[in-house]
Amino acid sequence: MKGSCVCGGIQYELNDKFLIANHCHCSICRKVHGAAFSTSGHAQEDGFHWMQGEALLTGYRSSESSIRNFCRVCGSKMPSVFPEMNDVPIPLATLNDDPEIQPKVHLYVKSKVPWFEIADALPQYPAMVDLRELV
Ligand SMILES: [Zn+2]
Ligand SMILES: [Zn+2]
Repeated sequence: MKGSCVCGGIQYELNDKFLIANHCHCSICRKVHGAAFSTSGHAQEDGFHWMQGEALLTGYRSSESSIRNFCRVCGSKMPSVFPEMNDVPIPLATLNDDPEIQPKVHLYVKSKVPWFEIADALPQYPAMVDLRELV
């Protein structure tokens, strides 16, 4: 499956299935995505490739172990690659294709905005959990 930023300068491809997908309500995700929460699918590094525009990527280091990639032209949030964890979180809304996975959990619900109500029956966690244990 393929995805891109909104200007189309950056294109990526995932030749693999997602392991898990989640919603995250943490304040960093909310601000970086400009939305009530973010929704990401997690894939392994092997199946992920930048097809075009990798030079347009820029990143904001939100913590020692985390970088938030985005397109320097259009500002779209883009996947980040964490080789040491073999984890590629991909913002599902930047895919052009069906991710063929549904989000399984809500994370960082303690940071949820007051103007959005979670209306599904997915498990809610106050902060982070080890997603590998939920796969
Ligand atoms: Zn772009
Ligand atoms: Zn988050």
